[in-house]
Amino acid sequence: MTKSEQLFEQAQQVMPGGVNSPVRACKAVGTYPRFIQKGQGGHIFDVDGQEYVDLVCSWGPLILGHCRREVLEAIREAMENGLSFGAPTQAEVEMAGLICQMVPGMEMVRMVNSGTEAVMSALRLARGAVGRHKIIKFEGCYHGHSDSMLVKAGSGALTGGTPDSKGVPPEMAAGTLTAQYNNLESVEALFEANPGQVAAVIVEPVAANMGVVLPEAGFLPGLRALCDRYGALLIFDEVITGFRLAAGGAQAYWGVSADLVTYGKIIGGGMPVGAYGGRRDLMELVAPAGPVYQAGTLSGNPVAMAAGLAQLRILEQNPQIYTHLAEMGAYLAKELRNLAEKAGVPVQVNQVGSLLSVFFTETPVNSFAAAKRSDLDRFARYYRAMLSQGIYVAPAQFEAMFLCDEHTKEDLDQVLQGAEYVMSQVCKEAGSSL
Ligand SMILES: *Cc1c(COP(=O)(O)O)cnc(C)c1O
Repeated sequence: MTKSEQLFEQAQQVMPGGVNSPVRACKAVGTYPRFIQKGQGGHIFDVDGQEYVDLVCSWGPLILGHCRREVLEAIREAMENGLSFGAPTQAEVEMAGLICQMVPGMEMVRMVNSGTEAVMSALRLARGAVGRHKIIKFEGCYHGHSDSMLVKAGSGALTGGTPDSKGVPPEMAAGTLTAQYNNLESVEALFEANPGQVAAVIVEPVAANMGVVLPEAGFLPGLRALCDRYGALLIFDEVITGFRLAAGGAQAYWGVSADLVTYGKIIGGGMPVGAYGGRRDLMELVAPAGPVYQAGTLSGNPVAMAAGLAQLRILEQNPQIYTHLAEMGAYLAKELRNLAEKAGVPVQVNQVGSLLSVFFTETPVNSFAAAKRSDLDRFARYYRAMLSQGIYVAPAQFEAMFLCDEHTKEDLDQVLQGAEYVMSQVCKEAGSSL
């Protein structure tokens, strides 16, 4: 038995499913989780001494790789002054200022502790601002685990077969309307069927929790126009895309502006941080400036701010990072398509910048319905075989691959070499498709 297997056995005695977040348990891919000891650059090492090229990067936060020197130094310096005060610090002002400078249209920001909290708070603000109570979200999009968002949710909720969670009050779920991603008619139909009741539309500008699904031309501008027409707010959930697609996130990348934006992951540099922000007139409704209550004992924590600030400053000052990430993403996607085709394995590789997904299906994946056509059994075999080749990808079909700035050409070639073997030897034989 490996040390990871032993730890997992112990973990299952004292933690539900042996983990603190469901997908990590690797249930969907028929194996046990590797317990990680350390990371360095674009690589991680498990407790059994195995090294992997890390294509998860903590599910996105580590866009500069593990143990980036500037980030660790900033944390060390901050912690010497104390871990938390529950009082304002200079780092928070710098953080909010930097975010407003980097993101187009961003005028004010509130820091929180996770993406879930950012979304939950932004939705409350939207309801308070507009004076309506319903929210439109998209099937297969994931916005954290607050009650109203666990309706046809993506990510682990989808992978684990619980897109509609038990324990969510029916009246909460009833206030969440679900539309189809890349389908503007489905959004318009909900507005028409709920006149004067929709406060906001929330969307992942690139859907990355049903695997990566890109917005088709016209989809995001169309959402903007529908929200304006029906008097609702547009919320971009940029917990994944923020500071990843571009320094200004998806708003800058696709040239569409949202009223409110939520952040997480990259914004904390690996520490637990989230944020929401947007137009001044909206943000000034948040307490204590306004009547929409939201608070947090550890919000704006000085050590977390130091980590996030260090990472964001590097991203802001080095635009070539985004060129490098996009080049690597495009190269990996192209080569993965080629070698799958050579092996005779039907795949769709969706990619934008440093985000990509390999779907095991013959039809283009531009919707949730299309993503669900993937051969999950084949994905599971691919996952386990990739792991055996020293390549660490997300343990579920409905997740993204993340590149970081520290990945090298050699890393990518190791991934492609491994994938060539895996596609031609392991994935060839068809699995039980859905
Ligand atoms: C990860 C994620 C969240 C939730 O963030 P947590 O920090 O896990 O609470 C929300 N929205 C999107 C788009 C995400 O990818």
